[in-house]
Amino acid sequence: MPTETGVTASLPKPEPRQSDPTILAREIVERLTYRLGKDATAAQPHDWLHAVILSIRDRVIDAWISSTHKTYEEQGRRVYYLSLEFLIGRLMRDAVSNMELLEEMRQALASLNVDIDIIAELEPDAALGNGGLGRLAACFMESMATVDVPAYGYGIRYVNGMFRQEISDGWQVELPETWLTHGNPWEFERREASYEVGFGGLVDPAEDEDATPHQMVWRPAERVIATAFDTPIAGWRGKRVNTLRLWTAQPIDPILLDRFNAGDHVGALQESNRAESLTRVLYPADSSPAGQELRLRQEYFFSAASLQDIVRRHIQYFGDIRTLPDKAAIQLNDTHPAVSVAELMRVLLDQYGLDFDEAWDITRRTFSYTNHTLLPEALESWPVPLFERLLPRHMQIVYAINSRLLAEARRAGGFDDAAIGTISLIDEGGERRLRMGNLAFAGSHSINGVSALHTDLMKQTVFADFHRLYPTRINNKTNGVTFRRWLMQCNPGLFSLVREAIGDRFMDDAEGLRDLDAFAHDSAFQEKFLAVKRANKAHLAQVLRERVNARIDPAALFDIQIKRIHEYKRQLLNIVEAVSLYDQIRSHPERDWVPRVKLFGGKAASSYHNAKLIIKLANDVARVVNHDPAVQGLLKVQFVPNYNVSMAEIMIPAADLSEQISTAGMEASGTGNMKFAVNGALTIGTLDGANVEMRDHVGPDNILIFGLTAQEVADRRANGYAPRDVIEASCELSQALSAIRSGVFSPGQPDRYAGLIDGIYDHDWFMVAADFDSYAAAQRQADRLWNDKAAWASKAIYNVARMGWFSSDRTIREYARDIWKVLP
Ligand SMILES: *Cc1c(COP(=O)(O)O)cnc(C)c1O
Repeated sequence: MPTETGVTASLPKPEPRQSDPTILAREIVERLTYRLGKDATAAQPHDWLHAVILSIRDRVIDAWISSTHKTYEEQGRRVYYLSLEFLIGRLMRDAVSNMELLEEMRQALASLNVDIDIIAELEPDAALGNGGLGRLAACFMESMATVDVPAYGYGIRYVNGMFRQEISDGWQVELPETWLTHGNPWEFERREASYEVGFGGLVDPAEDEDATPHQMVWRPAERVIATAFDTPIAGWRGKRVNTLRLWTAQPIDPILLDRFNAGDHVGALQESNRAESLTRVLYPADSSPAGQELRLRQEYFFSAASLQDIVRRHIQYFGDIRTLPDKAAIQLNDTHPAVSVAELMRVLLDQYGLDFDEAWDITRRTFSYTNHTLLPEALESWPVPLFERLLPRHMQIVYAINSRLLAEARRAGGFDDAAIGTISLIDEGGERRLRMGNLAFAGSHSINGVSALHTDLMKQTVFADFHRLYPTRINNKTNGVTFRRWLMQCNPGLFSLVREAIGDRFMDDAEGLRDLDAFAHDSAFQEKFLAVKRANKAHLAQVLRERVNARIDPAALFDIQIKRIHEYKRQLLNIVEAVSLYDQIRSHPERDWVPRVKLFGGKAASSYHNAKLIIKLANDVARVVNHDPAVQGLLKVQFVPNYNVSMAEIMIPAADLSEQISTAGMEASGTGNMKFAVNGALTIGTLDGANVEMRDHVGPDNILIFGLTAQEVADRRANGYAPRDVIEASCELSQALSAIRSGVFSPGQPDRYAGLIDGIYDHDWFMVAADFDSYAAAQRQADRLWNDKAAWASKAIYNVARMGWFSSDRTIREYARDIWKVLP
């Protein structure tokens, strides 16, 4: 925060800055000279970027300070969004655009002979997340500022965020991403916001005479310091600027001088490294079970620091801990911060001496929890002995919460031992484990799913018994994406075309895009729309030429699947279909094939063997297909390395067809699906996650739906699914699978894919075989549609027009209204 003294009202407000290009140019040169110590003639592109960021940052800070004043004057409830991941990407264009200075900045830089697009590319991606969950947190930060919700994001400032992916001989290689090497001009270190966080040690009863029976003293064996780094996040039109506060870990005494001077150089350095290693790396998703102790330490570290910060601020302004729920709404983004529930209880019981029931009431009114997955292997749990060793006081509190929770269920009636067993915070089957989802559920007044289907499945499966016990807690908040980044900034061609057609209203209300409906069959508009798409494709083709020496034809249908590599997301289904298509083109060269470029991108968790094998398979198939003269010009396959936010911003505007083909029931929502559709791609997808609602909004004629429904998947599994029969019944599928299995694409190691393909024959957990024919049919339907340019264009335009509801502004308004109770 710029200031929290509360005595700022009397200070003069800064003069509004002028924004014409000459003044901007002068400001930039001034930053370059006096902040970077560089002469304009000697400045390198990086220096210009830095100077631009400093100039725009000053303007953001003006708005930040006035937002802060506003928040203190209003004295209302503030939102605290706790997330272990924030997948932000670059910030410069976002900030310039939200401060409405993009054109002025472009001209200012042009007058200095600097190209804004070239320097923008030098900004490193802040990749403090794995995928959708982290990107959602970033979209939410921008939308909270836009819809004027006073909010803080809390997370970890990883020195090494998501790894950089290189492809070597077709295999994924993971390299550290060093996003901080050139410094980070966006962040402010706040040494005054530093807190101690403890681990391990002992718990003793409090010795005060007036101590409550529940009051204990925790004496941690180990302590580290959490120090805050703040990044301002500007909303659209600079309306509000909120704070993203990321924690870094430091040893208690930064140089451990005493021990160092006493000659214990090694010990002093070890302790210092141990503290700092806490915030060194982002854990890869899906390295399940994430049994790493360090991961649990990270979760507690950032939860405890954030809660101390929240409680300190609350006491400073309001004085009474009992009013915390009236002034603070804490949202848990998945279960990673769920230990916060036990931590707040500890603070209330041990530090403020509240009795248990009152503490529990305050806690539940303060927290709410967003669930992101129901996959059993992804439901977070910790071995009780590990949790108890690291957090002995929290373990006691968890047991106390659990005994009350289970007593409540027994009193309510209708819960047999099995139901009590699923509600329990402790999983007693086998090694005892603490279920973080249950802790988050028990400690929250609101639990939301991220799409309508996923919310229904929450009620029917994992949380069915909890839902019976607390029938009003589960609610739906379908995800969204920020249209500033995912339309206005990443697709300037489409952005200006839309403005030209329907004016500017949609910039403040994405549902205004609906006015484009009137242009769906307007042939002049269709022409312009297709020309924009074509230009975006040419740009992607050029980028791929430069980066991976790929030659792809912008006239072909661009069919894109970019997302983390995971078996449930079924990149394998897409690759098998590509192999089948390859086969058919070779067998029937006389047919009128639609030229297609299949693009894949995504990272595999470093410990996820099959996901890495799928990347290798995509590259093996690409090598064979792309060198076969028989399919030249008709089929290209390309794996695009190092998929991240910046790559997404180039690929999504260039897509004709968006692959959203997860096994129904397994993708909680998806947000990639939304970004593609609003950029005018048609979706080929299953009725999974938010695809279901996308079909409702864009209309069933404007989306290509195929495959089993979630209910059908569940029925098949229950009734003994026999993939072998399905495969034998499909000639195309058997041929494609045997080609891969026998080494057609891996002649140097013919059995490379035997295990992967045998998995489809033996159990086919992800229903690749079951959905294959229906998927292939949908692909041929896409081909036929492609041949009718006007029909394709009208459907694509309907997608842009009708996706407004999927703006994260709408999602945030729903959270604000139903969960946080802030705002209009
Ligand atoms: C949007 C986005 C995701 C999420 O994609 P899904 O298709 O919903 O899994 C992942 N990574 C990046 C970089 C994104 O921008």
